[in-house]
Amino acid sequence: MDFSFTPEQEQYRKEVIRFGRERLGGSVRELDRKEEFDRQGWRECGQFGIQGLPVPEQYGGSAADILTTVVALEALGYACRDNGLLFSLGAHIWACELPLFNFGTESQKEKYLARLASGEWIGALAMAEPEAGSDAFSIKTTAIRKGDSYLLNGSKSFVTNGPLADLMLVVASLDPSKGWQALTAFLLEKKTAGVTVHPQEKMGLRSSTLGEVFFEDCEVSAGDRLGEEGVGAAIFTHAMECERAFILSTAVGTMERVLERCVDYAKQRRQFGKPIGKFQLVASKLVDMRVRLETARNLLYRVAWLKSMGKSVFAEAAMAKLHISESWVASCLDAVQVFGGYGYLTDLEMERELRDALGSRIFSGTSEIQRNLIAQLMGL
Ligand SMILES: Cc1cc2nc3c(=O)[nH]c(=O)nc-3n(C[C@H](O)[C@H](O)[C@H](O)COP(=O)(O)OP(=O)(O)OC[C@H]3O[C@@H](n4cnc5c(N)ncnc54)[C@H](O)[C@@H]3O)c2cc1C
Repeated sequence: MDFSFTPEQEQYRKEVIRFGRERLGGSVRELDRKEEFDRQGWRECGQFGIQGLPVPEQYGGSAADILTTVVALEALGYACRDNGLLFSLGAHIWACELPLFNFGTESQKEKYLARLASGEWIGALAMAEPEAGSDAFSIKTTAIRKGDSYLLNGSKSFVTNGPLADLMLVVASLDPSKGWQALTAFLLEKKTAGVTVHPQEKMGLRSSTLGEVFFEDCEVSAGDRLGEEGVGAAIFTHAMECERAFILSTAVGTMERVLERCVDYAKQRRQFGKPIGKFQLVASKLVDMRVRLETARNLLYRVAWLKSMGKSVFAEAAMAKLHISESWVASCLDAVQVFGGYGYLTDLEMERELRDALGSRIFSGTSEIQRNLIAQLMGL
């Protein structure tokens, strides 16, 4: 097994770090306080090529392989403090762009993919509903066929990028009494009549937008159905496999960035006449953070490597999602503690890092659901 980067990956990683440091995250405290999205940063990511990383060149992307994409996103997480922007990028790439690429018709790809890849458009996935979270396939939003189109009625909750998205991948049911077999996916332009979005305020990742989406006799043409009727559950499962595997690529970079800050602080902050890092109880926190970072990174790279070999990564994706999210939260808790009272103040941004990390145990399937999936795969 070869863990080294190619010279091209190493060079690109450096470029991403330079870009992230120079162009992104400067006003994150303000954005977090006001719950604002960095639209300009999003556009610059588009120009730099972030949203287009895994997209083929014919649709304006750079056709990077999955490992290069993951390494680039990890580097962006290391360089950019705006975890909300990073999360929005992840939701856009893994939950909208890739399912469109994997399941879309040629004309759907031509219509939408280049706009998503360039960052001109923002994408979202609308699956969860007020009564259907972990039990995702129990959704009640309906899509009733009417000639050459479908009428969507119902509502979605917790849609990342929802308030700003131009395109939403919406999963609806042709007949709720038929369960998962009736689920069908649609590509819905948000400007479509009958769609309204209400922003939802949240604890962390506040510079990423989240919203409830309501559909009232909202007409979608059959040409905008993604896949065949009844394959919505399969499309969602496939999208979730990718999302779980890779949405925390940026978080691994963030964990490294936070660890470096903690180590620097532990070397310069003195109490009882010596740097606090010389106290074993402080040093052991930093060691635990380092071990979590390395294990999180190794799981991420392994799942990317398996995916690049064309293998199914259902179990590995659940394990990566579970381990990286739990490690991210645990390390942010340690980071706040290492900074002491200053960690609790907003100035040094450690409390924001912790608030940002907490959502990762919930989105893309909670930690409990990842454990259930892994247990099932172990025959339990
Ligand atoms: C920041 C953020 C962004 C999100 N973005 C999106 C998005 O873009 N698109 C989208 O569709 N959704 C999104 N979601 C929704 C997310 O997928 C759901 O919140 C998540 O699946 C949990 O559903 P729920 O909130 O309804 O909780 P519930 O399913 O009601 O769960 C409540 C608690 O019960 C536990 N629980 C439930 N069932 C079981 C079980 N069988 N065994 C053990 N424990 C169980 C859960 O783990 C949790 O602790 C987002 C959520 C967040 C927080």
